[in-house]
Amino acid sequence: MPLPSMRLFGAKQCTALTKRTKQPCKNPAAYGCRTCRMHGARKPETIKQGKDHANFVHGRRTLEAQQEQSAFCRRLQQLEDAMHILGMTTAKRSRGRKANGYRKLTSLEDIKSLI
Ligand SMILES: [Zn+2]
Repeated sequence: MPLPSMRLFGAKQCTALTKRTKQPCKNPAAYGCRTCRMHGARKPETIKQGKDHANFVHGRRTLEAQQEQSAFCRRLQQLEDAMHILGMTTAKRSRGRKANGYRKLTSLEDIKSLI
């Protein structure tokens, strides 16, 4: 049951899930934050990202760099599909996890839509 202050004063509830029971946290959220003090309440304007973050080293692992890398891998995997469909290679298909958003090409129409 949430604290009475939440019901009486309309305080926002913490959006985090408790680690132990996997239930929503029942504490009120800290002022201006989405979570309570126990779940890392930080105001969005104080969260440092990119070069301002303390753990930033070279920028190859930023969200933008990872999305760019994923798009490049997806393009390469679709090109491999196109090569197999067009009969340009008899090599085995590459194994492993496919990139995010990968959609297997199965016909010439798929290849034409890719171009
Ligand atoms: Zn909480």
